[in-house]
Amino acid sequence: MECRVCGTATRMFLSLGETALANSYLSANEVERREMKFPLELSFCEKCKVVQLNHTVPPELLFKHYLYVTSTSNTFRQHFAQYAESIAKEFNLGKSSLAVDIGSNDGLLLKGFQKFGVKVVGIEPAANVAKIAADDGVETVNDFFNENVAKQIVAAKGHADVVTANNVFAHTDTIKDIAKNVKTLLKEDGIFVVEAAYLVDMLKDMTFDAVYHEHLFYYSLTALDYFFKNNGMQIFKVQHVPSHGGSLRVFVKKQESGREVDSSVAEMLDSEKGVVDNFETYRTFAAKVHDNRKKLVKLLAGIKSQGRSIAAYGAPAKATTLLSFCGIGKETIDYVVDDSPLKQGLFMPGSHIPIVSSAHLDSNQPDYILILAWNFAGEILKNTKKYADAGVKFIVPVPEPMVR
Ligand SMILES: [Zn+2]
Repeated sequence: MECRVCGTATRMFLSLGETALANSYLSANEVERREMKFPLELSFCEKCKVVQLNHTVPPELLFKHYLYVTSTSNTFRQHFAQYAESIAKEFNLGKSSLAVDIGSNDGLLLKGFQKFGVKVVGIEPAANVAKIAADDGVETVNDFFNENVAKQIVAAKGHADVVTANNVFAHTDTIKDIAKNVKTLLKEDGIFVVEAAYLVDMLKDMTFDAVYHEHLFYYSLTALDYFFKNNGMQIFKVQHVPSHGGSLRVFVKKQESGREVDSSVAEMLDSEKGVVDNFETYRTFAAKVHDNRKKLVKLLAGIKSQGRSIAAYGAPAKATTLLSFCGIGKETIDYVVDDSPLKQGLFMPGSHIPIVSSAHLDSNQPDYILILAWNFAGEILKNTKKYADAGVKFIVPVPEPMVR
């Protein structure tokens, strides 16, 4: 396929098969219908070093009715509160400042900015989630971020001091338009803060389940640096943060801004040399992914053959990738517990395993719990301590399947 960033022919290194859309949770009557499935394949671009999916699923299919609500998780609540605070303090944001969040979800990050008196506008295409934010006092434009929306905001509120984009930058093939429209929206010396899952962490921790159709790009700093330099902007600082199993937070300025470039940029670029720019890295990763699938399938089959029951905890998007790639379904997992009331009562895409509340663990106590939301493993293990005390065992699927 042709690289979405630079147009060069890319090299495929991993196929996870055809999978259902990871955030298309099904209602009871939808389970009976034929489900759409799309190939999930990863490619590497030798020229601009970006890792990306081969297939783009139309965004209308992916984001129309999105169930991923940020505030559901304590871990995320803390993450976004600290995120807003650190930016507000470092860049002296106050009453006269404007912050715009692209893909603002339920407005969690913007609420953090509001604590500092900052004026905020969210942009969120999922109508159900945008409404939650608006009802909660966060002004939200219910649309995809485009030139019109950028111009509307400038006309109504002036140019922004800070524009943030979390994960959305990995989730859309319109990143060139985003960069262009962010430049329209920003003040001359304004900053664009992008947070996206860090490719190097995925490679190191074997978190291949972070690959799903919404997630088009898998960034290293090397690839982001190339992208922004070719789109009139420049990264002037980078941080490595823990969200989503390890993410990059890059601070970007307009090319013409005189802001100084922090040493963190050169240091991380240096650390990536010979790793993210080398096709061999990806070939090795793919071999290990196939190996881990074998190990997990064998582990679960062993448990089932002893007549033991297995439930799962967490129904994030990544769970669909893991279950689908490993061919794990209802014959193995009795139910999936998720703490989001929006998902309870629905069924997992692809595998059609029912999603239930944690109360189910009391009425149908399993022998094993497979942790699918491994990025919240700490929180989950804490909340389920009484089951561990009662002898329930936990399986963590990454970096390598393990019972604990
Ligand atoms: Zn490229």
